[in-house]
Amino acid sequence: MKDELKNLNDYLFKLNFKFKIISAKHIPEIEQEIKQLYIEKKITKTIYRYVSKYYQFNIPKNVLNERYIIIVAIPQKTSIVNFKIEGKKFDFIIPPTYIYKANQDRIYKILLNIFKDSKKINYAHTPKKLIAVRSGLSKYGRNNISYVEGMGSFNRLESYYIDFPLNIDNWDEESIMEECRKCSLCLNACPNNCIRENEFVIKADHCLTYYNENLNDFPDWVDVKSHNSLVGCMVCQNVCPINKKYKKNKEKILSFSEKESEIIIQGLEKNILPLNLNKKLKSINMDEYLPVLSRNIRVLM
Ligand code: SF4
Ligand code: SF4
Repeated sequence: MKDELKNLNDYLFKLNFKFKIISAKHIPEIEQEIKQLYIEKKITKTIYRYVSKYYQFNIPKNVLNERYIIIVAIPQKTSIVNFKIEGKKFDFIIPPTYIYKANQDRIYKILLNIFKDSKKINYAHTPKKLIAVRSGLSKYGRNNISYVEGMGSFNRLESYYIDFPLNIDNWDEESIMEECRKCSLCLNACPNNCIRENEFVIKADHCLTYYNENLNDFPDWVDVKSHNSLVGCMVCQNVCPINKKYKKNKEKILSFSEKESEIIIQGLEKNILPLNLNKKLKSINMDEYLPVLSRNIRVLM
């Protein structure tokens, strides 16, 4: 067991990734913790339903013996994609966390290489932010985003079930960043007043991210000038002093031709998109947001 853990540590350290391990016995606690937010009216019924549908709280059958969750933090840049619309060029931001698949699969392969049995490793569709904070891998910011030392909030979390006698359980109380106690920059900057003064759970039903990731119309009270990213929102992360160093890491990753931009704006469904365009969107995981891209681009133009 020691060798496997050392190997995992070595592999992930080389990549600048960080990780922690918890026992999967905490899954019911995690589920209850989210329910409690709803009971205490910190999140609305709609948000509670939304997250309950999104996460899986049943442990997969193949990892039923020695059950652990490995949670990994991956440093992420702000990505920029270029569109050409009606002869003009537009750079749109994709915040950290949205582009994930390559690293998600890469870590799975590393685990497979170390633990040698694909039947005992599974992707875990769990509330990663909560697990990361409870495991000590990260701390909450006032904006309810997960901050990892050496990455700030510019990180992506991935989690995996593993059936292996690891005998480790990093499980503690949630912690918040000390810096937040005397800071309210994100609270003042949030365009939708989502961030609370004495509470680290934001009004998720007001967050721009919730609206621009979903297909419903933007409510009238959303200021059209507040839109800032192709999906998601960078305002509270960009003003945060903890991110000063990390927010400079921006990368132009992809350009869409005039024709491709036009097709995306038309809002065509995935199954009738040209194969190459579909592939291109998939390479940055934006195929998952195809139904909202057209609307989101229009409000950014
Ligand atoms: S802006 Fe200030 S209060 Fe908000 S997360 Fe960053 S340090 Fe905390
Ligand atoms: S992501 Fe944007 S809308 Fe949501 S809390 Fe942060 S600043 Fe506010």
